[in-house]
Amino acid sequence: MPELPEVETTLRGIEPHLLNQQVARVIVRDPRLRWPVPAEVVKAEGQSFISLSRRGKYLLLKLQQGGLIIHLGMSGSLRILQHPTHPAKHDHVDAELQNGVCLRFNDPRRFGAFLWVDGEMNEHELLSDLGPEPLSDEFTADYLYQRSRERRVAIKNFIMNGHIVVGVGNIYASESLFMAGIHPQRAAGRVSRQRFEGLVAAIRDVLDRAIRRGGTTLRDFVDSEGAPGYFAQELLVYDRAGSDCFQCGAPIRQKVIGQRSSYYCPACQR
Ligand SMILES: [Zn+2]
Repeated sequence: MPELPEVETTLRGIEPHLLNQQVARVIVRDPRLRWPVPAEVVKAEGQSFISLSRRGKYLLLKLQQGGLIIHLGMSGSLRILQHPTHPAKHDHVDAELQNGVCLRFNDPRRFGAFLWVDGEMNEHELLSDLGPEPLSDEFTADYLYQRSRERRVAIKNFIMNGHIVVGVGNIYASESLFMAGIHPQRAAGRVSRQRFEGLVAAIRDVLDRAIRRGGTTLRDFVDSEGAPGYFAQELLVYDRAGSDCFQCGAPIRQKVIGQRSSYYCPACQR
């Protein structure tokens, strides 16, 4: 599933090809995504992209008036085709540019989204209640400390809640809690300010490294045969149940917390 680093990499991969370019035609072959692709997406025709950005795992493609919100869901991907080929199965939406380039949205499982927004994009209902970006200055130990007081929810679920902070998916939550030495089931309200310092640093570090690794795949977004691949992570605990902890040698444990598989070291994490 595309996580924040893949979405950021997608943004960097498509941005240079779309910025200031005019849309000639939007073709919707199958509107049945997570929400139906609205007929209004044709409002993009004749308009140029004035900015591209990311909010959580949403891509915001702003046009002169209105814009597109794209989410990759479980299996979605975007590609830039300089010489558009015949659409294949699951190539649900194309945005053809005046210069002949095509932005193609592919999504086999169709949990993604391709939406039109008339007004201010950040005020869209999907975006307006989101917590801060994990790589922004707003995301601090103080912020997490304040938000977590009196909360009994497991720290892992707390940091995976998009209203608290966006884009910390299951893998990154497991990894950062290991790096910070915090047991995933510890009550959020019982994590000290000092330990939140370590957790914020770990979340930033793990996301940052993944984004940098993604940078090496940027050319995969242009004229590639299949969907851009997702980069392999160097994982410390995730998916390593039974293997030795890199830090202390104890076997890594797996436990379902909040319906998600969680991995941790019972010795290093408290
Ligand atoms: Zn350990």
